[in-house]
Amino acid sequence: MLENIKGLGPKTLKILNNHNINNISDLVNFYPFKYNIISRSKELIDGEVITIDGVLESNANVFYFKKYKDRMTFKLNIGYKILNVSIFNRGYLKSKLLAGTNVYIIGKYDQKKESVTATDIYFGMLSDYPIIEPIYHNINGISNKQLKTFINDALTLYHENQLLPEWVIDKYHFPDYQVVLKNIHNPSNEQILKQAINYIKYEELFLFTLKINYLKQEKDKMPGLKRVVDYEKIETFVDKLPFVLTPDQMACIKDIYNDLTKPTRMNRLVQGDVGSGKTIVSFIAMYINYLGGYQSTLMAPTEILARQHYQNLVNLFKDTNIKVSILTGKTTAKEKKQIIKELENGNIDIIIGTHALLSSNIKFANLGLVITDEQHRFGVNQRSILKNKGTTPDILYMSATPIPRTYALTLYGDMDVSNIHTMPSGRKPVITHVKQNKDIKEVLEAMLGELKKGHQIYVVVPMILEQEDSDYTSINEMYDNMQKAFGKYYNLGLLHGKMKNQEKEDIMQKFKNNEVQILVSTTVIEVGVDVYNATMIVIFNSERFGLSTIHQLRGRVGRNALDSYCYLISDKETERLHVLETTNDGFKISEEDFKLRGSGDLFGLRQSGDMVFKMADIKRDFNILMHAKEDSLEYLNSSEYKGSKLEKIVFENRQLD
Ligand code: ADP
Ligand code: MG
Repeated sequence: MLENIKGLGPKTLKILNNHNINNISDLVNFYPFKYNIISRSKELIDGEVITIDGVLESNANVFYFKKYKDRMTFKLNIGYKILNVSIFNRGYLKSKLLAGTNVYIIGKYDQKKESVTATDIYFGMLSDYPIIEPIYHNINGISNKQLKTFINDALTLYHENQLLPEWVIDKYHFPDYQVVLKNIHNPSNEQILKQAINYIKYEELFLFTLKINYLKQEKDKMPGLKRVVDYEKIETFVDKLPFVLTPDQMACIKDIYNDLTKPTRMNRLVQGDVGSGKTIVSFIAMYINYLGGYQSTLMAPTEILARQHYQNLVNLFKDTNIKVSILTGKTTAKEKKQIIKELENGNIDIIIGTHALLSSNIKFANLGLVITDEQHRFGVNQRSILKNKGTTPDILYMSATPIPRTYALTLYGDMDVSNIHTMPSGRKPVITHVKQNKDIKEVLEAMLGELKKGHQIYVVVPMILEQEDSDYTSINEMYDNMQKAFGKYYNLGLLHGKMKNQEKEDIMQKFKNNEVQILVSTTVIEVGVDVYNATMIVIFNSERFGLSTIHQLRGRVGRNALDSYCYLISDKETERLHVLETTNDGFKISEEDFKLRGSGDLFGLRQSGDMVFKMADIKRDFNILMHAKEDSLEYLNSSEYKGSKLEKIVFENRQLD
């Protein structure tokens, strides 16, 4: 009970609860997000931040200039010099800052004025060893110091046992769990801290991989639907397509065919670049499922994408008896009623839709295949609602963010993965140029050239957080600039995350219809929407994006036989961006991204809580991950696991993507 902590009143309790800290365990597991290492500066360098200790020469003076705003000054004798120190909003310390008091300060040194503008002040002297100061994520209204006091009090009340099995502790010579917690919050030196952090990282990754290993075993045990389908029928169908499938597409179809005709349950991820042709693969999966006698559903993240799929499906199956329907937020009540009826009596074979499919009155006669397009756009719960509308349906996910194989094997250990590496033939790579802001005229001219040919253009700017006082062009400013340059002859559209869904869909539709020629947007532009006539994408401040993100963005052009262009505008980190000029292989690019930026940029992956670790980082801590994976598998298969607390935790959290 948090109430048992000294000085923790109802107001603080409420704040903590709002930050998901509801009990003692949550509190002790609220780890610092970084540690400041404080040690005495060896020399004072003009303009740099220094850390120095000394004795107050006189009592501190405070000047109050506004409610809760003040500036305090004092003279600090540091042994070989006297510094003029000023610090803001610490007036409340005045009574303690008397002549003769020992303090140490951190702040910027000004040599000419012999002064320091301090940001931090602490009582006491620095020792010859560095002090490690844990820094917690800001919790409104609770200071770092107060939080630390609460946590340390909580530590005395917390007697939970370690989760990790004893043999793991021995294997890695980990310290006792209680010691780890104490050291995470009160590290006395860097080595002890490192040990504690490694323990926590390992524990996080052990739990994660235990769950994946568990899910894999469950999946393999789970009986699925066994269909009897003649593969020749699939080949005949494929032969009639207006284009020849790539070998990778065929291999995916073969994988899926094998899954669907085997009695175990499919849980497969199809990875491939934007435009690599995942959709047709999923359509053929639905065809196999149909021939096997079951209904299919495909959920897309937006109305416009659902409609695109629907149209394509209707075309694809026009010479068959397959009945395809669509259900979105726009479907009228009357139509919906009819759809519900026909899904329940098995009349509809395939239903495409948006979140509307999740509604509880949508029931199926015999749902056999559930597909989610752009899987990362849905929450785990949403996906599981859909799955549960059938008895053991097979599952197919599609993702346009390929990840390197070694990581895929670990992170998606509970899924089978099929990759589409090659693009359909005839597809031209997007011609990519990295340019600086000073070359903007050249870029604008290139834009005009495309517009004159009757083509369309995407202009992308990074999302801007308001508190950032950076020089990044905000989306509105960019829109105004583009309006000035092209507004006289062309129509512009604006698209960003703050707009309502309907507004977003409307503007996207207008772009698709070529009522808008230049779409200025943040990265919210839809990954899967085909705008065949768009031939150029200009991405400003591209240093702000991961390579994979940019690669996905440029995949929005080049969906045709025309020459397409991507301009990356940036004055920084251009070295990294040049990779995109030379390769169009999403797998290679994501590998590069991993090398350069770590796992932080893995959007489109397991991001739904499961992959959010407090301390571990999939890339940086890859070695720990591999150990944890192996150990957790051994543990899962041992008798120790049965009835353990970990078994309970895994069972309660068994829902993973
Ligand atoms: P994504 O993998 O991004 O979902 P799509 O499935 O939307 O890509 O395919 C992009 C475009 O390429 C679509 O218009 C699709 O009809 C077309 N396409 C798919 N496979 C082939 C192929 N083998 N040959 C030619 N065009 C193809
Ligand atoms: Mg797609």
